[in-house]
Amino acid sequence: MKPRQRRGFFILSVTGSGALSCELRLEQRGDISFLIPSNLLPEGSVRVAFSTRGGGVSPPPYESLNLAFHVGDEEANVLENRRVFCSVLGLDPGRLTTAQQVHGNKIAVVGQDLVGRGAFDEETAIPMVDGLITNLTGVPLAVFLADCVPIVLFDPLRRAIGIAHAGWKGTYGGIALNLVESLVKVFQSCPENLLAFVGPSIRSCCYEVDAELFQMFKDRFRDEVSERGRLDLVMLNVRQLERGGIFQKNIHFSRLCTACKVSLFFSHRVERQTGRQAAIVALL
Ligand SMILES: [Zn+2]
Repeated sequence: MKPRQRRGFFILSVTGSGALSCELRLEQRGDISFLIPSNLLPEGSVRVAFSTRGGGVSPPPYESLNLAFHVGDEEANVLENRRVFCSVLGLDPGRLTTAQQVHGNKIAVVGQDLVGRGAFDEETAIPMVDGLITNLTGVPLAVFLADCVPIVLFDPLRRAIGIAHAGWKGTYGGIALNLVESLVKVFQSCPENLLAFVGPSIRSCCYEVDAELFQMFKDRFRDEVSERGRLDLVMLNVRQLERGGIFQKNIHFSRLCTACKVSLFFSHRVERQTGRQAAIVALL
């Protein structure tokens, strides 16, 4: 990975080789850095970003850009971090719409009545779901993570978006597939038009699981679980997106492992009590 300078921003390229595209790049604005898709999206159509942990105001163990309320950080710090991060992205933090994330596989449709749920506190976040979809413009949907897999979908034709949080439970329960099917059902999306972005999360290098859990996955996903005693939740979710009908060439993911890079990301497995990075998507 070679840092290079372009259009005044410091860019770290994380493009990889292989059949699947890996086109998320690290972009820096002041003290804040975040991953965005590389030149894939029509200008002014949608914003997709995955935050990193630097440039915020939270003290240890949440240092420093903790974007989630539920981890024990001061509410005022989270609000300030969200304000700064949203302003860097040109989004309205008051319209941020979030899910309570219960490690399930359910998706909520965000209509006008749900806009801004969870923007200022945890209690009003949409309960019982781990994924959100909408076709409303200017409504940032967000999920919060420390090792779990963030999945973002965008339908440029129907102008609809979706986002989900997938830990092992959500992955096992098929949340990525549910996200695709929700867009198809609610907004008549055709899977072949969908673009998918899978953000940084723990990878198999750091995700050893016990024998019982490994066997559960092996029984359900068979050959897709290839490394003995380890799970690669990113690839398991990528396969679900493909099963949902999304073309392989339209699925873009980060190769970065959150547990390998605790200087850049929060990692629950490494740190236990820590903050949360966010994945955000908004139609512009
Ligand atoms: Zn790792």
